Formats: sequence, C-alpha cells, structure tokens
Amino acid sequence: MGVYFLAMSVNLKDLSLEELEALIAGLGKERYRARQIMRWLYGRGASSFEEMTDLAKELRAELSRTARISSLASLAEERSPDGTRKYLFGLEDGNQVESVLIPDDGRLTLCISTQAGCAMGCRFCLTGMGGFARDLTAGEILDQIVRVAGALEPGERLTNCVLMGMGEPLANYDRVQGALGIMASDLGFGLSRRRITLSTVGLIPQIKRLFAEGVPCRLAVSLNATTQKVRSFLMPISRRYPLSALLAACRALPLPPRERITFEYVLIQGVNDSDADAHRLTQILRGIRCKVNLIPFNECPGILFRRPQEKVVLRFQKVLMEAGYLTIIRESRGGAISAACGQLRGRITGS
Ligand code: SF4
Repeated sequence: MGVYFLAMSVNLKDLSLEELEALIAGLGKERYRARQIMRWLYGRGASSFEEMTDLAKELRAELSRTARISSLASLAEERSPDGTRKYLFGLEDGNQVESVLIPDDGRLTLCISTQAGCAMGCRFCLTGMGGFARDLTAGEILDQIVRVAGALEPGERLTNCVLMGMGEPLANYDRVQGALGIMASDLGFGLSRRRITLSTVGLIPQIKRLFAEGVPCRLAVSLNATTQKVRSFLMPISRRYPLSALLAACRALPLPPRERITFEYVLIQGVNDSDADAHRLTQILRGIRCKVNLIPFNECPGILFRRPQEKVVLRFQKVLMEAGYLTIIRESRGGAISAACGQLRGRITGS
C-alpha cells in the first residue's frame, strides 16, 4: 500500500508553477497558494507539508494525501584540499548520483547531474564507462541544489550552476528544461540565465530547441577534437552528429547579444594536443562567437590516456589566443576526491 501510494502521488518538485497552480485549483484552493508552496520547496528547503505554516491546516492535510515532497539521501560528502566538495546522493530506487561544489574566484558553482550514469560513452570519461541507468526527474535534478544549498556554511551562497555532472542533459530534455525553469525563477533559486551553463556533447536537434524555446541557460559544447576521425574515436555521438554539422549548427544559433558559446576541449597527450590541432581549431571555430576552455586531461585509473605536459598546454593556448579566441586553461577541480570532470561515478543499478 505504501509503495502504491508513493508511485501514485505526485512529487511537487516535478511540477512547473503552472502545473502546481492547476493542482491547487483542482483541490478547490486559491491558485496563489502555489507560489507560497514553491518558496517553501526551494527557498526554504521544506521537506514536509507541516513546515508550511502559512498554509491552512486543511490544505496541508489535503496535499499530504495527494502529493509528496521528494528528497535525496545524503550518503557522503568529501572535501578536496583545493576546497572542492563532492556530495554523493541516494535516489529512491537505489541509484546514486554526485554533485560537486566548486569555490572559485568569489563564485560558488554547483555542478549537478542530470542522469544516473550516461549512455554517451565518451572514452575519456569514467561516468560513461559505468553505463546508463535512467534519466533523473526534474525533482531529482532540483533536489541536488536544495540539498547542497541547505548544507552551505554561514555566509556562503550559491552563485552559479552548471549541468556538467553525470549524464548528458539534452538526452533528458523535458525534465532538464523543467528544472532550468525553476532554477531561473525567483520562486525557485533565482539564478539568472548568465549563471546557468548547460554542457552537451552536441545533440544538434536539442541544441536548436534550447534556443528556439528560450530555455534559460548558456551553452557549452564538449568538442575535444578538430577532425571527425578523432572526435568520433573519442565521442561516439559524433558518428550520429558529425563535427561539421555540429559547428554549422552552432554558427547559426541566435545567440543573445554579448553571449558566447563555450567550447570545452579536454587536452589528451598524443591524441588531440598537436600544433596542427591548435591551428585547425582556430579555423573550424571561425565565425562562431565563442570562447574556449582547455582542460588538461585528468589522469585516473581505468583510462589509459595521458595528460599533456604543461608547455604543450600553454603552446596550444597561445595559438588560440593569437588567433583572437579567449582561451582559458581550466584545471579540473577536485582531482583528489575524484570530483573532476569525467570522474563522477555514483553507483547505478539496472544498467
Ligand atoms: S563526458 Fe559527459 S556525456 Fe560523455 S560519457 Fe561522460 S558524462 Fe556522458
């Protein structure tokens, strides 16, 4: 009976404001109550209806009969010497996901997961090697923020959110879109579009949809190669959406004024770090308003790739800078606790 109830009751964190308003109206109550409930769910991290003291008792009782408030189990928290914190969360079905909090230059950025595991199979990524279990719900995506925001130290405040944890966000489009709407809403987390970045391997139709639908986030594309041959070796998705088509799609995106696409490029010794690659990159990005993040590969057990020498990384950056591209070398943060890019594993079931 308990399990049946759990399966049937709606998780309020999976609902948009409009859907929550409709649910409240369906209970015969004032629609504006939905706004009050949203503030409780996200701003105050309420985990039960009893906490929502400005709602009438009768409404709270009605809600607890028809709906529920999800939460994640906090299974572990680790801190790296560089200040990065990694959180391991348990989902209701036993899958686990990770989120990483990165303090940097006055900002506090939370990297969240959008799927349990990942089906994209990028060769430089431990998450991809672990396989795919399932998409996260909007509530599970948002719950990572609720949990981490609730565990911040006095004086700390989340400033940015990046969808770069476990999973390919655009392979879980509808739920990610719902979660982004709440992240950006004042009733949710009030993060402006500029402070939310979605990183994708390059699912072209969904990238176009993001812009057509005005989803509140900036776009980062995980590029990692300058030829179709190397890219499809590193990232199998490139066989479906070839490099040339991806770049053409990026070139045609209606970017808001002053906004750029970020291209992420994991530098791997002897694979994609040559001078010829650097020069080719300056050519293939022509005409795209963009910047480049170079990420020297983070060596880890289980993946045979090597990190390039520092002088190679600097030379690669110089070629791009001289061609006029803003190029930042980003050290993967949290390497000591396996919180760096491509090192999130969690534990997944059913894959
Ligand atoms: S890099 Fe991202 S998209 Fe690729 S396998 Fe890893 S988690 Fe998935």
